[in-house]
Amino acid sequence: MELTFPTQPFKTHGGAAVPHRKNTAQMESVMLPPPGQVVLPMQQHVGPPCAPTVKVGDTVLIGQKIADSTAFVSAPIHATISGTVSAIKKVTLSGGQFMDAVVIDSDGKMEVSPDVKPPVINSLPEFLDAVHACGLVGLGGAGFPAHVKLKVPDDKNVDTLIVNVAECEPYITSDNRCAIEDTDDIFTGVRAVKHWLGLHRVILGVEGNKPDVIAKFNKVLSESKEESDKEIKVLELRSSYPQGAEKVLIQSCTGRRVPVGKLPADAGCIVMNVTSCAHLGKFLRTGMPLVEKRLTIDGSAIKEPKNVIVPIGTNIRTIVDFCGGYKATPKKILMGGPMMGVSIASDNLPVIKQNNAIICLDEKEAHKLEPSACIRCGRCVTGCPMNLMPTLLEKNTVAKRVEELNSLDIMDCMECGTCSFNCPAGRPLVQAIRLGKALVRAEGKK
Ligand code: SF4
Ligand code: SF4
Repeated sequence: MELTFPTQPFKTHGGAAVPHRKNTAQMESVMLPPPGQVVLPMQQHVGPPCAPTVKVGDTVLIGQKIADSTAFVSAPIHATISGTVSAIKKVTLSGGQFMDAVVIDSDGKMEVSPDVKPPVINSLPEFLDAVHACGLVGLGGAGFPAHVKLKVPDDKNVDTLIVNVAECEPYITSDNRCAIEDTDDIFTGVRAVKHWLGLHRVILGVEGNKPDVIAKFNKVLSESKEESDKEIKVLELRSSYPQGAEKVLIQSCTGRRVPVGKLPADAGCIVMNVTSCAHLGKFLRTGMPLVEKRLTIDGSAIKEPKNVIVPIGTNIRTIVDFCGGYKATPKKILMGGPMMGVSIASDNLPVIKQNNAIICLDEKEAHKLEPSACIRCGRCVTGCPMNLMPTLLEKNTVAKRVEELNSLDIMDCMECGTCSFNCPAGRPLVQAIRLGKALVRAEGKK
C-alpha cells in the first residue's frame, strides 16, 4: 500500500465535547526548587517491578541507576536528585499497590553522575538498548516501556510512526508546553525512531486547539534541510475527546482500524507520546535518563495553576505548595485528567514517570450526579469510540456474566470515560466496565 499523508483527519466514531479548561497552555513551565527528598517506587512501568541496585547509606548522583529488572518488559529507574539513600521501604501507590521504594535524601547539590554521557549508537539493537537504558516509558499515562514498543515483532509490518500531540483531556497542557519548549528534542527523538526503524512516514497528530504547536512544528519542517524530513508531516486533528486515545488516533491519522484485541503494530503503526519523543531526544543529546517530569497542576482547588518540571519521586504536596497551596479544600485529587485520571486518597504520594498532571477539584467541581435508572437513550452507545455497548457491559458486569462480557468485546474498552460523561442518568458506566474487565481477567487465570 502506498503511503500518503492525509491533509485532513479521517472520520472516527463517537466521542464527547468535554470542556477544555486549558488555563495553563500559555504559561511557560517553571522548575520546582530541588526537593529535600524523593521517593522512587519500584513500579513505574507496565510489567514486573524493578529491584533496588543500591542499599541504605549509599550516596547517589543524578542519572545514576538505582533499580533494574531482568524482565524484558521493564525499565530501569535512576536517581533524580543527588544525596544519600536513607531508606528502602514499602509505599502505597495511586492504584493501591504496596510496593518497595528507594528514598533519597538530598545533599542540596543536584550533582550529575559522571556516567551520564550521550550514547554511541550504530545499529538498531544498540538503539533499542539505549532506549532501555534511559528508563523511558510511555509518558502519556500508559507507562509501557519504550524499548518494548519500538521492538517491532518480525511478523508485523510497521510503516508509520504517529506522534501523539492530541492531549485531549481537560486541564492538561504539559504535552502542549513540551511541544513548544522542547521542540528540538522532539524532532531529534522522532528522527532517531524514524531512522533506526526504517520508517518512511511520520505523522505528528496535533489537536486544532493548539495552533501555536502546529505553527512551530510546521516552521521546523519547512526550514529543515534534512531530506528525510519530507516524510514527516503535521496533521491537524479535531479537538474532541478522546482524540488522543491510541486507537482513535491511529484511525484519525491513517484511516486504519486496530482489530479487536490487537495492538497498533497490527495496523502498521507505532504511537509515541510527544513528551516521550522529547525525552528520547534529550537522552540522545545529553545521555540524561528519565529523571524529571513536566506536570500540569490545576483544578478549582489550586491557588496558582502552573506547569512545573519536577524530579520524579517528588511528593505531590510539595508541588501543590509550590503552586500556592489549595484555595479550597480539595474534594477530589486526580493523578491525570478528569476523564481518565486516577483519584487518589491523599496528596502524600510521589510523582512517578508516567504522571502528567495533578488536578485538584473543589466540592462544587467534584460533585457527581446521583445515578438514576437507565432511560435507554443510547447516548453511551453512540458516543463510544470503540463501538461498544456500555449499558450492556454494565448490566452483564453486575450479573457477573463473563461469557457475555467477552462476546461484547469488553476488553476492547479503553476506559476513556466518554460513556459515563455522556450519560444523562449519571450511571458510573466506566467504573462498572473496569470491574467487568477484572472479572474477565480473573476467569482467564482459572
Ligand atoms: S465503553 Fe469504554 S471505550 Fe466505550 S466510551 Fe465507555 S469507557 Fe470509552
Ligand atoms: S447513556 Fe446512560 S441513560 Fe442513556 S442508555 Fe446509556 S446508560 Fe442508559
